Amino acid sequence: MGYLFPFPRAVKRSQDFGANPGWGPNPPGGHNGDDWAVPVGTPVRAAGDGEVVFAGQFDDTYADNFGWNLMYGGLMVVLNMNGATAPYFEYGHNSELRVKTGQRVKRGQIIALSGNTDGGTNVSTGPHCHVGCLPFNFNLNTNTYGRVNPRLFMTDYWEDEANGSASLGPAGDIKETTTDPQETEVSDAVDRIIAEIRNIAAPGESGKRNAGPLYDLVQNVETINAALLPGEAGVRHAGAVYAALAALDPAQIAAAVTAAVPAETAKQVAALLGGK
Ligand SMILES: [Zn+2]
Repeated sequence: MGYLFPFPRAVKRSQDFGANPGWGPNPPGGHNGDDWAVPVGTPVRAAGDGEVVFAGQFDDTYADNFGWNLMYGGLMVVLNMNGATAPYFEYGHNSELRVKTGQRVKRGQIIALSGNTDGGTNVSTGPHCHVGCLPFNFNLNTNTYGRVNPRLFMTDYWEDEANGSASLGPAGDIKETTTDPQETEVSDAVDRIIAEIRNIAAPGESGKRNAGPLYDLVQNVETINAALLPGEAGVRHAGAVYAALAALDPAQIAAAVTAAVPAETAKQVAALLGGK
């Protein structure tokens, strides 16, 4: 896995590493980093997991201590990536810093907002972000002041990783859930059945209520119920079906059930019959 470019794929470079030797602040070997043409305020993302070795206004003291050249700067962030032989990346001309020296950063973390600052050296001729790269064991005594092409290391885009992972993507990226076609089919079928029941259950012509086929069915059910249910008050168990059941010997029923069903069920049936 390579390191991340600080900006989305759509952002163009305005000056490549090695371009314009000796022009302006450029060393003999050419521009010692990549300039990315971004408007002021564009989020600058960390190339990878690492440590902030410098965050602040570029100055001579810092240059002396760490060996950087005062060729650009302004509000800068310098990252040392994790790993014994990992490179350094420097991000210059920012308008706002989001990290502090000594802090650890995660891959893709916003470390600054881009800008047009240059610490008064006037090397920044318009809003952009300068990205420099020093490899492990760098030697500042080269014609690019030790810097190498950042694109030897930076190969990946944060947008790919952010879009490719549900856990990393912003909530707004989650697509609206579509309805399962099968679910829609079942729902439609239920609607049709309900409509049909309403149709057959509907009363008939005016003045002849409950003439629908469903009413007839319900009438049949009531007839069955009448046969099962007890009769008038004081004349219990007058129903025809009940009478038939009552004629049977409960012990015989229990024996038949015991032979046909699980013991527990048979016991429950026997209890019901014996407890009437
Ligand atoms: Zn530059």
